Amino acid sequence: MPEQSRTTEPAPFTADDFALRQQRAARAALDAGLAGLLLTPGPDLLYLTGYAPVAITERITMLVIPSDGEPAMIVPKLERPDAENAPGASTFQLVDWTDGSDPYEATAKLLDATGRYAVSDSAWAMHLLGLQDQLATSSYVAMTTALPMLRAIKDSDEVERLAAAGAAADQTYGEILKVRFAGRSETDVAADLAALLRQFGHSQVDFTVVGSGPNGANPHHEIGDRIIENGDMVVLDFGGLKHGYGSDTTRTVHVGEPSEEEREVHDVVRQAQQAGFDAVQPGIECQEIDRVARAVITEAGYGDYFIHRTGHGIGLTTHEPPYMVEGETRLIQPGMCFSIEPGIYLPGRFGVRIEDIVTVTEDGGRRLNQTPHEMAIVE
Ligand code: ZN
Ligand code: ZN
Ligand code: ZN
Repeated sequence: MPEQSRTTEPAPFTADDFALRQQRAARAALDAGLAGLLLTPGPDLLYLTGYAPVAITERITMLVIPSDGEPAMIVPKLERPDAENAPGASTFQLVDWTDGSDPYEATAKLLDATGRYAVSDSAWAMHLLGLQDQLATSSYVAMTTALPMLRAIKDSDEVERLAAAGAAADQTYGEILKVRFAGRSETDVAADLAALLRQFGHSQVDFTVVGSGPNGANPHHEIGDRIIENGDMVVLDFGGLKHGYGSDTTRTVHVGEPSEEEREVHDVVRQAQQAGFDAVQPGIECQEIDRVARAVITEAGYGDYFIHRTGHGIGLTTHEPPYMVEGETRLIQPGMCFSIEPGIYLPGRFGVRIEDIVTVTEDGGRRLNQTPHEMAIVE
């Protein structure tokens, strides 16, 4: 095992960063005809304030950002000191509520009674129903439905964090090629991947897919007790969070010498991934990335075996908008970061997927994963 890589913490985001993000969010809400945003704990609240309560409990915490007005956050009184210490605390007014009082009544006072609000996707139904009881004339829409691009455009500090997470995933891949595959279970190799991600600075491991042989043909297979054999294709898809930002990369390796067919399928996926990457350009529609990558696979005769979208956004979470999928007509813009991950899945036999995270620049794309796409041979 290599030495622990030294990871210097990036400079934290400042209150000015959060204020700017909130202003942009308020403007987007206004443009969408909304009265504002209602944010409960989760990635959107973290993005806009730096605040992540230690535990998400049944007591409501909600940031209200009016599209035209001053932000305020309602918090349980016992959590007020934590909220006061949030990096963006100076950007909103704090309103606390005590047990025994009605928190929805207090929250409703901050809202426009006839307004339409975008609400965090993961807000508890209990809280939304409580608000609806108070304000029967206001209406609500899910954040991802109303403002899917809220966090989609990353600033340079965010791209730097994503690049650091990508580099750590690349180091993980470099090391996993040295471990033994044949005779060990998928679970064993997955444990190696998780340990390596942490060793290279990840604070959270979100997934470690090891799909060997026929298991690789199921894109949703994570891991199992199957013992990896000589002759297996193995899909390795792993990622998590480093410095709060996500990694997500896939390479498909082979145990021992591959067959002609395995080489051919792998090569088609490699070309599809490259074509998707080459197509990245500000101003094209997201669906274009999917179309370009899919065309390579379809032309090679494997179109029926590429059974998922080509990519997804990444940032504070490992899966988020924008999606590289047919029907997504939003335009690619500089600062967007997303995966390009075409695959071919031959049921009962094997699968191949190759995935890099890409960030959009003024004139194209930049890969945040740099490891070779050629099929690596492992033992
Ligand atoms: Zn094989
Ligand atoms: Zn992945
Ligand atoms: Zn992915």
